[in-house]
Amino acid sequence: MQKSKLQADFYDTIALIAGGGPAGSSAAIKLTTSNIPTVLVEKSNYNNTRIGEMLSPNAKPILSELGIFEDFTKRNHLISRGIRSFWGSNEDYIKEFIFNPYGYGWHLYRKEFDSDLARSAEARSCSILKQTKIVSVSNYGEYYITTLINNCNENINIKSKYIIDATGRSAEISRRFGVSNNIYDRLVGFASLFEPIVQNFIPNPVTTIESAESGWWYAVPLGNGDFNVVYMTDLDLYSKGSLKSKSFWLNELQRTNFIFSLLQNYKQKSKPRGFMSDTYICNISEDSIHKNFLPVGSAIIGLDPLSSDGICFAMRSGIDAAKFIISNENNGELQFKNYFSRIKEHFGNYLAERSENYKLERRWQNSLFWQRRHRVDLPPRFTYNPSR
Ligand SMILES: Cc1cc2nc3c(=O)[nH]c(=O)nc-3n(C[C@H](O)[C@H](O)[C@H](O)COP(=O)(O)OP(=O)(O)OC[C@H]3O[C@@H](n4cnc5c(N)ncnc54)[C@H](O)[C@@H]3O)c2cc1C
Repeated sequence: MQKSKLQADFYDTIALIAGGGPAGSSAAIKLTTSNIPTVLVEKSNYNNTRIGEMLSPNAKPILSELGIFEDFTKRNHLISRGIRSFWGSNEDYIKEFIFNPYGYGWHLYRKEFDSDLARSAEARSCSILKQTKIVSVSNYGEYYITTLINNCNENINIKSKYIIDATGRSAEISRRFGVSNNIYDRLVGFASLFEPIVQNFIPNPVTTIESAESGWWYAVPLGNGDFNVVYMTDLDLYSKGSLKSKSFWLNELQRTNFIFSLLQNYKQKSKPRGFMSDTYICNISEDSIHKNFLPVGSAIIGLDPLSSDGICFAMRSGIDAAKFIISNENNGELQFKNYFSRIKEHFGNYLAERSENYKLERRWQNSLFWQRRHRVDLPPRFTYNPSR
């Protein structure tokens, strides 16, 4: 990154990436490997809790394409042998990764994973501004000026030709540009950590999923012996339940047949914390989006955690966005339409798969949660429009 001699707080770069999660850091690694000057802005210092621990075996070719697979395997993420689900009946179904062409998956220490990705981008000469937030973004046709503020209260101005929104579900840049979302549900995940009562207890490295009357549960063992236990339900159903009882989450956990019994030798370590997990696609029409602006990862599509594809999609879309920029810089052949139509196609396939998965559970016909998910060819239920 070149610093202008005229103003100490003014930077000129080719690509500015807002957000250093899997999508933003993957884009940054790809761009800087191709010598495209890139600045990545991340609001945190990677010390905050991050959700999403299951990394599917499909991540292997993505991490390899980024040139970081070997480094990744040296970290102590727990190898995942598969997924055990109780879905549609009390019989378990075990999906063993041994049959996956890429082998096993992983149970991640998520904040370490995200911070490692950012470090890999930095090692390839990406300028990373941590603990820095966006104050404003303006488009001047051929370029953008973004004003930032860091943790020392200093303003930084960045001129960039491209801007990538990788700020996750908050889609901060898209919102500022007035881009709306088509929202398909109001799924929310309430997550709580459990630690073993017995020391040095290593759980079976398998994720357990169990459907319930008003949602579903998953429990992921982590490398330190803890379990992350998450209740997925609709926001209104959770609010209603919590109003009736302060220990709603625990009561619902006790009603499960398998997840609760899995935790017999564990004690709860943290209070349940909510994470929005709704399904949506950002309302992409090329006309409504500024030139050279690319939303990636959860800033463009929100995936139900049932898909276990959120991190892989985020990394792939980051790489795709970077490839379009590289191609445009090298050959002037950028076709944003292709990027967006690929995203729409991916989302269409995901909706079909999500619907098939939910249809496999038929036991609670009177439950609002399942009725909502069994409606055929579900159109979006809400539109979020920031300009209204
Ligand atoms: C309950 C739940 C469980 C999930 N489980 C899984 C799972 O098991 N497996 C899986 O693959 N996926 C899972 N996911 C989905 C997965 O976590 C996301 O798909 C993935 O994190 C998206 O990556 P991202 O980089 O697009 O966004 P994020 O991971 O959200 O990263 C966004 C980054 O941008 C930064 N940021 C935000 N705003 C600003 C700003 N204004 N300025 C600067 N920086 C900013 C944030 O600090 C963060 O670092 C789960 C999601 C939920 C909600």
